[in-house]
Amino acid sequence: MMQHSLQIDQKALASDLIKEAERLSDTEPTSCMQCGMCTGGCPLAYEMDWSPRQILRLLQLGLVNDALSSRTIWLCLTCETCTARCPRDIDLAKLMSSLREIAITQKIKPAEKDILSFHRSFLELVKRGGRLFELGLVGLYKLRSRHLFQDVLLAPVMLRKGKLKLIPRRIKGQDKVARIFAKIEKQ
Ligand code: SF4
Ligand code: SF4
Repeated sequence: MMQHSLQIDQKALASDLIKEAERLSDTEPTSCMQCGMCTGGCPLAYEMDWSPRQILRLLQLGLVNDALSSRTIWLCLTCETCTARCPRDIDLAKLMSSLREIAITQKIKPAEKDILSFHRSFLELVKRGGRLFELGLVGLYKLRSRHLFQDVLLAPVMLRKGKLKLIPRRIKGQDKVARIFAKIEKQ
């Protein structure tokens, strides 16, 4: 009896999470016809454990936990190729972002090691400076991931070649970027 009600609870939670993904991304996984156009154009499909098309299928089947614990949602570059190719107007790029967001709120450990450290470091720098500061990103990421000395010898070479700047550049409209972050954080 107890196991039965546990199963019902899990099913209800899965259904709530799928609804939340639909709300956040303004998409309906049920409208996907499994044509595979998204996967055919995805530059990272070969690295993913579930292809973009399969992520939609998982949601259609109610297997949201498999989608939330996949490498796929963390490898997605948000390049929007899939979104542009979809004949059903499914915004798959936005759906991937929504799944990442839900995975974080549900405290599901990312399948891709250290990617959350990278994500957080990236966003923190854009929030602070309005744009990416590459050297800062390397530093913050290394601190968070504790890979302090990995690739450290590349830094002088990249600095010499001008690939890394020592000082962050300011942008026009930094205040607007700060306002975008403030609005998102309030939601
Ligand atoms: S392109 Fe659109 S309809 Fe086709 S499989 Fe991908 S999400 Fe589904
Ligand atoms: S947005 Fe993500 S899933 Fe879509 S094509 Fe780009 S990398 Fe692939």
